[in-house]
Amino acid sequence: MVVDYLIIGQGISGTMLSWYLYREGKTFLVIDHEAVDTPSRVAAGIINPVTGRRYVTTWMIEEVMPFSISAYTTIGNFLGHDLVQNKNIIDFFPSTQMREAFIERIDEDDQYLNAFPDQNHFNQYFNYDFGCGEISPCFSIDLQTLLYEWNKKLVEMNSFRQAEFKPGDLTFTADQVQYEDITAQKIIFCNGTGTMDLPAFQLLPFAPNKGETLLIECKDLKNQFIFKRSMVVAPTPEKDIFWVGSSYAWEFDHAHPTEQFLKNTKTLLDHWIKLPYKILSHKASVRPATLERRPFIGFHPNYPALGILNGMGSKGASLAPFFAHQLVQHIVHSLPITDEANVNRFSRILSK
Ligand SMILES: Cc1cc2nc3c(=O)[nH]c(=O)nc-3n(C[C@H](O)[C@H](O)[C@H](O)COP(=O)(O)OP(=O)(O)OC[C@H]3O[C@@H](n4cnc5c(N)ncnc54)[C@H](O)[C@@H]3O)c2cc1C
Repeated sequence: MVVDYLIIGQGISGTMLSWYLYREGKTFLVIDHEAVDTPSRVAAGIINPVTGRRYVTTWMIEEVMPFSISAYTTIGNFLGHDLVQNKNIIDFFPSTQMREAFIERIDEDDQYLNAFPDQNHFNQYFNYDFGCGEISPCFSIDLQTLLYEWNKKLVEMNSFRQAEFKPGDLTFTADQVQYEDITAQKIIFCNGTGTMDLPAFQLLPFAPNKGETLLIECKDLKNQFIFKRSMVVAPTPEKDIFWVGSSYAWEFDHAHPTEQFLKNTKTLLDHWIKLPYKILSHKASVRPATLERRPFIGFHPNYPALGILNGMGSKGASLAPFFAHQLVQHIVHSLPITDEANVNRFSRILSK
């Protein structure tokens, strides 16, 4: 089989990369072993323009957010599904200090933070002693439907193979790769933390980060907003079903759900939500995060047939469409890759 590009991994990165290659009329094959609880499958798909306790504007969000919303709308129209919901975040302050930090940022004219005038609006649903504010615009992307529907399309186009990629079976020159029966000009690794096993890229400063999440059923809870108070309660496309999460663990013994997270999250929900709820499932996954919190995009400085679209960390929903598009524009039209994201910033490490 001869294709232009071989893509490893069909999470959100491999999905958007293959979408843009498809739009450029390129041929490709996507290989994915369809692991069950990958980050892209357990993620809430939230795009939030601010981050951290100081409500700092997320890196490149002015460019990345509008681009990604438009990308999901376009691919959603193509697949016949509405993938984008505008769901602003109601942030319940855990302390007076956090309330003050929020107000301070509004005073500094932060474009994404707003006072919520009716402070008692959510009294029926939540306990909150320190008030709330609104972060807008925020979005919720239906990644599950996107991955599933795009996979169906890939299968229809004979562009998908369900298999585990084995690095030892890959051979390559400067302008060609060979893997089993597949010959391609380039191979692009979109396989999340799986890329850490590849000799060519294993020295990159990945910093895998584990996250756990619950799905709960909560009748009568409003689904127009995403609610936040150290954790997030976000509506899913299914009626009365909410996503709850998540944890951020830099150190962990295994990638499975833990009793500790379940216990802590139940305690939080019991104090916070006034309505009865039922826990439906508990999942965990490991984010492909990086030490300096910037993605790895582009081609290996010494092996130009080996590419990477990875390191999306906790922001895959917003970063993946933008950088998948940028990588395809780089491949097809030789356009530049953002310096801070270009994997060639690690030339010295990758040359060891
Ligand atoms: C609990 C949790 C909540 C999150 N919530 C959000 C959120 O709300 N918003 C947001 O923006 N981000 C969120 N994230 C982060 C987001 O999920 C990631 O940034 C994103 O999913 C990374 O996508 P990816 O395609 O790069 O990698 P992955 O999702 O890891 O996809 C990699 C794919 O490669 C495949 N693969 C791996 N190795 C091999 C191999 N050897 N052979 C074949 N296939 C292979 C896997 O099966 C998988 O399908 C969350 C993450 C977690 C864990």
